[in-house]
Parts: sequence; C-alpha cells; structure tokens
Amino acid sequence: MRIGVFGGTFNPVHYGHLRAAEEVRESLGLERILFVPAGVPPLKSSELEAVKHRYSMTELAIASNRFFEISDIECKKSERSYSVDTVQELKALYPDSELFFILGTDAFMDLPNWRQPEKLTALVDFVIIARPSCVFADIANSPYLEVKKDVLLKLDQGIIDSYNATLKSGRTAVLLRITPMAVSATHIRALLQKNKSVKYLLPESVESYIISHGLYTKTGQ
Ligand code: ATP
Repeated sequence: MRIGVFGGTFNPVHYGHLRAAEEVRESLGLERILFVPAGVPPLKSSELEAVKHRYSMTELAIASNRFFEISDIECKKSERSYSVDTVQELKALYPDSELFFILGTDAFMDLPNWRQPEKLTALVDFVIIARPSCVFADIANSPYLEVKKDVLLKLDQGIIDSYNATLKSGRTAVLLRITPMAVSATHIRALLQKNKSVKYLLPESVESYIISHGLYTKTGQ
C-alpha cells in the first residue's frame, strides 16, 4: 500500500491541512493518508492545547474522508516525539507499504533543527508542498535537497505542477503545487483569542469542539 504520513501539531487542524492531504493523495495515487498528531512536540510548546483535544479534533476533521486515518503513535507517548523515530516505527508497522513523508515548505526549511535529519531523509521519500507564506524558491539552499533554482521558480510560477527532485540521501522528494490556502493554526488561535469567528477556516465539527471545550481562549495563552 502507498501511504502518506502527515505529521503536525494540528493545533487546531484546519482546511489547509485537509485540502493539502487530499491533493497529495490524489496526485500521488496514495491509498491512505495517516494523520499523526504530535504528542509533546520538541519545537512547539507555546499555546499547545492538550494532546487529547488535538487528537479528537483531528479525528473529527477526517471522519468524512475514507482515505484519511489517524495514528496515535506520537500522542500515546509521554516523552517527546521525533519524526525520525515515528517513521522507523511506522515502517515496522507497515512492512509491505511504501511510505511518503508529507510536509510543507516551512517545515522542510526547519529540518536542520530536527533530530537526525540526515537519517530521516534516508528513511523515507518526501512530498513537499508549498504554502503561501513559504514558496518553493525558499528551499533552494536546503542542505538536504538537490534541485536547480529554475525548477523551483517554475513551480512557484505554475509553469510546472510537480517535480521529482532528489534528496541528498538519494531518496525522492516530490515537489507538488497545491491550491494555495493561506490558513494557519496560528491565525486561527489569534482569532479565537479575540473572540472572532473562525468559520470556514476549519470544519464545523472542529469549530463546535473548540467552542464547547473553551479552547484557545484562556487568559495567559
Ligand atoms: P502553526 O500556525 O501553529 O505553526 P500550522 O498551521 O503550520 O500551525 P502544523 O500542524 O504546524 O500547522 O502543520 C503540519 C504540516 O502541515 C506542516 O508540514 C505544514 O507545513 C503543513 N501545513 C499547515 N498549513 C498548511 C497550509 N495552509 N497549506 C499547506 N500546508 C500546510
């Protein structure tokens, strides 16, 4: 089976995540997208709602898509989780499957700060998607990717829709243009703090969950 692994804090999950996952699934012909909410992420700790809430919201958000599944592999750990360990565990869990590690250009730029990035890039093929806040050209100087700048510019300009680049590890990094959606969890949290509407930025089920549990509005957060 061809499985996309989509990790994130999902704090909260929103339509940017959902649409990105759907377009990656369709473009690469994946049979499943595994959403992996981070347990205690090493790099993001401020404003982080309890893991059970982020897990439940992600579960609600993906419920209507039969290709989407959720994994508690990181959530169930009490210690910090690292993608390199998660991918190794998932490879052991799905020995006959081909895994694709999905992440945005912003996350890919941050890779040098992750645990054992060389090892991670050698373990699995990547799918890199652009966000309006971070275009493909921004990853031109990544130490983990071999790609010509003009290819990245062609992607950003929409001259080409995807490109199979090579990671320095020798693995593939599919660079994929998706519908640009400038929604971020940071923006959603800021709106909620100001008691403003978040309608149409995330599924109604997630919005209702946030309201009924009073998330992201506590003073001091
Ligand atoms: P925050 O604003 O709190 O940093 P976020 O909206 O970036 O959160 P994350 O959970 O950190 O969401 O993201 C998980 C993954 O989804 C990352 O690889 C990120 O690049 C990607 N992603 C998030 N939002 C979008 C979007 N609007 N379009 C494409 N990819 C996205």
